[in-house]
Amino acid sequence: MNNNDPAVVIGCGPYGLSVAAHLQARGIPTIIFGKPMEFWAKMPPKMYLKSFWSALSLYDPDGKYSLKNYSLATGITKQEPVPLQTFLGYGRWFQQHAVPDIDQTYVKMVTADGKRYHVELEDGRSMKASAIIVAAGVAALAHIPQFATHLPTEMASHSQEHSDFSAFRGKRVVVIGSGQSALESAALLHEAQAEVELIARGPVRWIQRTLYKGMGPLKRVFYPPSDVGPPGVNWLVANQMLFRRFPTETRQALDARAVRPSGARWLRPRVDGIVPITQQTTVIDAKPHGEQVQLALSDGSTREVDHIVLGTGYAANVHAFNFIDKTIRDQVQTHNGSPNLNEWFESSVPHLYFTGAMAGYNFGPLCRFVVGAKAPARQITRHIAREKAR
Ligand SMILES: Cc1cc2nc3c(=O)[nH]c(=O)nc-3n(C[C@H](O)[C@H](O)[C@H](O)COP(=O)(O)OP(=O)(O)OC[C@H]3O[C@@H](n4cnc5c(N)ncnc54)[C@H](O)[C@@H]3O)c2cc1C
Repeated sequence: MNNNDPAVVIGCGPYGLSVAAHLQARGIPTIIFGKPMEFWAKMPPKMYLKSFWSALSLYDPDGKYSLKNYSLATGITKQEPVPLQTFLGYGRWFQQHAVPDIDQTYVKMVTADGKRYHVELEDGRSMKASAIIVAAGVAALAHIPQFATHLPTEMASHSQEHSDFSAFRGKRVVVIGSGQSALESAALLHEAQAEVELIARGPVRWIQRTLYKGMGPLKRVFYPPSDVGPPGVNWLVANQMLFRRFPTETRQALDARAVRPSGARWLRPRVDGIVPITQQTTVIDAKPHGEQVQLALSDGSTREVDHIVLGTGYAANVHAFNFIDKTIRDQVQTHNGSPNLNEWFESSVPHLYFTGAMAGYNFGPLCRFVVGAKAPARQITRHIAREKAR
């Protein structure tokens, strides 16, 4: 590793900020690119988070800038569910204190010459880098199902495109999916006075947390603070360094069980019995019909609506990050689009690291949540410090 060149972190969300906070505290020259908490700032302003307060801290090495300390410093009290605005305020506070120097430019292209990386920025500047940490989140990974790929954006859009549903007032809208984004989009559309129906290929499930209620301190026996997955599974996925040691089949089974599509308990009264739900039904075909879109469903029925909102989630895919030169992406060993990472979150390309949802194949479902940011922050920092000292 070239000692004089900085490590470059791409992305200023919870993962990029946590990694940069660790690298800088260790004295490793680091530059972080992007706009702080930008992905979260584009979400519906009145949204609530599915995660609990205990699972929403970003990480600096000393834990000085935890959500708890934000609440003590600002007087903002603990709330459940956590409003988006509270979390956004916290993320920005963390950035200002733990990672005050950010270069708010986008990375346009990363290339390599065998010795070091070259980073080209959107504003025309360029620089050399000793390591690249990809913390670019999931926005580029939005999953568009086959039936919708040919529809114009006026007729179909991914749920992440919407922060305000007021333009759908009086319109007929179908939401596809049964995860939190689909269910919350359906609630927000209904509240914006759209005529909305939710169609899901599986059952619609609501998180119960029955063991949590009335347990007092004992609740931690059933629910670790990370709180991803149902009781039992939640402890098995809570330690990412342990999770990566499980055989591939075990990891995949635990992952699928831990992040089964479901809605938060507090969301249920806004959807259940209020928004029509068609479960266990898939969309077979969708085609424009005048200004509307016509859907053919697996139960033989049809729908004609003004718009389809795709709450269809995200799928890891190294090639979606086209700011990394294709010759580098082609060298990254992958499994179904996810990079295969070593214990340092490093890909098969030396000193190219991946964080967040892109690390899920090896490190499990925590990587899709804020709470998973501690392990990559620590591991990547240790590895780069070790490599620089060699
Ligand atoms: C509707 C919704 C609700 C969610 N609710 C929760 C929740 O309750 N709890 C939870 O833990 N998780 C939740 N998540 C998941 C959440 O997205 C992740 O936990 C979290 O954002 C991961 O952080 P990150 O840093 O990997 O990604 P992000 O927060 O997406 O940050 C990545 C950043 O990288 C930037 N970037 C991308 N490309 C470049 C580039 N070329 N140059 C510079 N910058 C770039 C992006 O602009 C973005 O700001 C939710 C997701 C959605 C969509």
